[in-house]
Amino acid sequence: ATRPGPAPRQAATHCPYCALQCGMTLRETDGRVEVLPRQFPTNRGGLCQKGWTAAELLDHPDRLTTPLLRDRPGGELRPASWDEALDRIVTGIRTVQAGHGRDAVAVFGGGGLTNEKAYALGRFARVTLRTRLIDYNGRWCMSSAAAAGTRAFGIDRGLPFPLTDLGHADTLLLVGANPAETMPPLMRHLADQRRRGGRLIVVDPRVTATARQADLHLQPLPGTDLAVANALLHIALTEGLLDRDYVAARTTGFDEVRRTVAGCLPAEVERLSGVPVADLEATARALATADRAIILTARGAEQHAKGVDTVTAFINLALALGLPGRPGSGYGCLTGQGNGQGGREHGQKADQLPGYRRIDDPVARAHVAGVWGVPVDELPGPGVPAYELLDSLGTPEGPKALLVLGSNPVVSAPRAARVESRLRALDLLVVADFLRSETAELADVVLPVAQWAEEDGTMTNLEGRVLRRRALREPPPGVRTDLAVLADLTARLDASAHPSDPRSADPRAVFEELRRASAGGPADYAGVTWDRIDTDTGVFWPCPVVDGPDTPRLFVDSFPTPDGRARFRPVTHRPAAEPVDAAHPLHFTTGRVLAHYQSGAQTRRVDALRRAAPGGFVELHPDLAARLGVADGDEVRVVSRRGELRAPARLTPTIRPDTVFAPFHWPGAARANSVTNDAVDPVSGMPEFKICAVRVERAEP
Ligand code: SF4
Repeated sequence: ATRPGPAPRQAATHCPYCALQCGMTLRETDGRVEVLPRQFPTNRGGLCQKGWTAAELLDHPDRLTTPLLRDRPGGELRPASWDEALDRIVTGIRTVQAGHGRDAVAVFGGGGLTNEKAYALGRFARVTLRTRLIDYNGRWCMSSAAAAGTRAFGIDRGLPFPLTDLGHADTLLLVGANPAETMPPLMRHLADQRRRGGRLIVVDPRVTATARQADLHLQPLPGTDLAVANALLHIALTEGLLDRDYVAARTTGFDEVRRTVAGCLPAEVERLSGVPVADLEATARALATADRAIILTARGAEQHAKGVDTVTAFINLALALGLPGRPGSGYGCLTGQGNGQGGREHGQKADQLPGYRRIDDPVARAHVAGVWGVPVDELPGPGVPAYELLDSLGTPEGPKALLVLGSNPVVSAPRAARVESRLRALDLLVVADFLRSETAELADVVLPVAQWAEEDGTMTNLEGRVLRRRALREPPPGVRTDLAVLADLTARLDASAHPSDPRSADPRAVFEELRRASAGGPADYAGVTWDRIDTDTGVFWPCPVVDGPDTPRLFVDSFPTPDGRARFRPVTHRPAAEPVDAAHPLHFTTGRVLAHYQSGAQTRRVDALRRAAPGGFVELHPDLAARLGVADGDEVRVVSRRGELRAPARLTPTIRPDTVFAPFHWPGAARANSVTNDAVDPVSGMPEFKICAVRVERAEP
């Protein structure tokens, strides 16, 4: 008789990729890990192809299992011991800080790091390194919506209501969002909405997979969403569709907005954006007459140098219609990265301390300094936003050393060639990753770190729901967790003991400290415990008391502003930072494809995903292609004032003839961010990824 093998190991966890954080079970049998979809409120048993294949990277041959060192500029990376690698980092940090001050070292984090890592990274920068220069790639993801939400509502939580509300909306307006490709299981909620007779309206310059399912598709010129929003409010105003009681009781500042949008005539907005007045009217009426109406923005509206004001225009519309806080209604932002929400709450953002506190708030500083056991006057002040930080690297006044966790800016940064040259100018670049990303290829030291299925922790999804990430297995020999790396570096750099013990690599202990640091802040996790998360489907912040309720729905009775009211703010359209001209007559915009996630460093290595989307491409309208003499599949050059990309043309009538599109997942010649503009929003620091001026020409073979 055959003897039974060892029982399979299992872990109920969540997908490592996007902010939907789909529930999945990992099962390991004889060393082979399979992914099983798991019922969870966000995915309801669904996964996209990225989730289905996520385990493939755990045992991938490209996996790093030993530190790598570069002995001299231009030399090759070579294997090294952990001691040698950590010593090199510590010596490098001490040298540049001795010569140039504390801020000579900078830290760059990521929106995929767990809450514990985001928290520990912020503490490491401000307590161990005592640098003010820390920011992260989430700056390029949700910062415009975060700033606009905070400005209007006094708090930023991507969705201030559970995702299941989408299925009950009578009218749902999606602006610059393409969940059918970026987070497909979310479409189950939209299918519910359609089954119940709800209307879906999509605003997008492209006929995306999501737009194809809409009852109404508004296809504006890129960069004109703000004007579209103001026109919708103008129509609601002139047709008497506002919720006057709500505006009077729950908001301030409407009169100025009323005066601003009074001059925003729909006919003029049609000329500017290309959206017919009839469609604007139909949209305004569908929103205003619905019992339950929801407006959602995503990167298409937000990744602009006027991203904060664009989101503000849609929030103004939502407030004027009385949506925020009304059951089943509201405004929300579809956060993109896996921990895009939690990643912006715990202190890896340049202007924030844990609990989503402002770093320039004396009360917040005193509280966090107390938890960390450091004198408050030793706590550094605000840093600078991500692009500004990267653009200063290696300059005479800028940082000389950079530590990168969970990010690949060589592919994902705007004006990426310039960022690449800045990274090359550093005295010391340290990258912690589990693969040799394009950024790791430039590093002086690469540290091999654990993957998502090899460590415990928490994530906070796009609803503000705190989830448990659970380890299936130990990291392979030679690999350490990010928390262990930070603890090791702290122990070597700083022998003094802190009450907060930054040398702890235990995620549960780090989370306990995070709870204390966040207590009383806008994102209050004091009542969230791992045990509590385990007994339910997560816990929504704010949750200040362990035995008290959490908060799935915000703004029901009041807003967390000093007077309890939401704030209108007048905003007006302004042109893109870079207008088209004779030399660069076309608009260029970027986005994602179903098979790949962010810079593609992970998904490009997964066989099925690589086969599904093997390389970059440029979408052109057939009319434009005919004018340019380009056939489908021809190699084209897309040239901006900053650089160019080369990729095959993909002819499609789903894009406007004045606009070209490329996905941003690939490095090398097809790198879309070689072209993008580094103009940034003055409030959020968000770069203008979504529009710049280009010309397109057939590439010579
Ligand atoms: Fe779900 Fe996003 Fe993972 Fe796809 S990538 S399975 S949508 S969490």
